[in-house]
Amino acid sequence: MLYDISRTISPQTAVWPGDTTYTLQHNLRLSEGASVNLTTLTLSPHTASHADAYYHYEPDGATAATMPLSAYVGRARVVTVSKADGALLPEDFAHVTLDGCERLLIHSAVSDGADDEWPAHFPYLSLALIEWLAAKRFVLIGLDSPSVDAFDSTTLDCHHALHDHRMVNLELLNLRGVPDGDYELIALPLKLAGACASPVRAILRTLTPDRTTGD
Ligand SMILES: [Zn+2]
Repeated sequence: MLYDISRTISPQTAVWPGDTTYTLQHNLRLSEGASVNLTTLTLSPHTASHADAYYHYEPDGATAATMPLSAYVGRARVVTVSKADGALLPEDFAHVTLDGCERLLIHSAVSDGADDEWPAHFPYLSLALIEWLAAKRFVLIGLDSPSVDAFDSTTLDCHHALHDHRMVNLELLNLRGVPDGDYELIALPLKLAGACASPVRAILRTLTPDRTTGD
């Protein structure tokens, strides 16, 4: 079974305040006698579900085209947290085990919001949580929140900490209706040269006996 955990990219999709909204223009239309429909897209690569590239906050960091891919595919654990705002700490995961997995997808109340609603509040990561997960050899942290740092952060400490540990992130996932547990995650960034992020089509595949490792 597949779960599509991607938000829809449309002109109504909420984007970070001040960022570029998505537009789609038709250059050619079948309905007007052209041989094809041909569209042109304009968007921020942080629109809807996406992977940040290190270049987003590191001057010489990897771009969407050069981010290491292995972290974006493999066994992932979905965990629901009760915190709907503020920094997530290791104790917010005291109710689950995080052993035997390298990818954590954090399901909060943000997933209940519609694609066209910007969340007024959202939970984000903390240095304590990142250090704790890095020690457990996690390679990816995904959130339904729009950032791994607080909305008003200017230093982006959690982004930098992820880079320092060679971990990657996914933001603005939609985990509504996904039961907690382990899945195979597939959420690859596009090979966008020079881009500071990339939209992803993020899916979770239920594990089968011959795919229990997911790696
Ligand atoms: Zn982002």
